[in-house]
Amino acid sequence: MSKPVEARTPGLARDASAALGGLLEGNRRFRTGSPVGHVVTVARRAELVDAQEPIAVVLGCVDARVPPEVILDQGVGDLLTVRTAGQSLAGVALGSIEFGVRVLGVPLVVVLGHTGCGAVLAAMGDHHGDGHLGQLTGEVAGRLTEVVGDDPVRATGANLQATVDALRTLDTLSTPDGPAYVVGLLYDLASGEVTVADDGGLLPS
Ligand SMILES: [Zn+2]
Repeated sequence: MSKPVEARTPGLARDASAALGGLLEGNRRFRTGSPVGHVVTVARRAELVDAQEPIAVVLGCVDARVPPEVILDQGVGDLLTVRTAGQSLAGVALGSIEFGVRVLGVPLVVVLGHTGCGAVLAAMGDHHGDGHLGQLTGEVAGRLTEVVGDDPVRATGANLQATVDALRTLDTLSTPDGPAYVVGLLYDLASGEVTVADDGGLLPS
């Protein structure tokens, strides 16, 4: 039985679209070597003492080459960032994402995948290892349900889309104004460019 889709307010769509546009524009600045730089003034720090209003929740990878605030050229207070290997949803990651959406009312959830992801490559193998790391790569492997063969590009795309789809099924990712928008972005290590894999209907077609 499918659940009824809650209505979203026009304001929520507007805020989510503006946030997505701001992130893509920030990546354009980053990849062209002209980031804003985001000096955190004492005054800005003071503004953030009592409240935070991040424009997006970003679920990214722990990979040291893909820090969301840097590649999207955002400052302190702009992003609520959750980072797990391969954007895994295991463990406390979901609760952290829900904190951003339900408690802070953030309208946009970004799943940020990237090329050359070690967790995806590990998940493509037959042996996922042991311990917590094995659980994590096993979880990523479980999301590679479409036939990806030994193609890491297909696997990266499949992992990204499966994570986006999984988040969209959750009733718990809802702001007071309706369900958050979930989008998938892909970062290319070589070019520095973030491309939109799934815009969740936020960008003009
Ligand atoms: Zn990665």
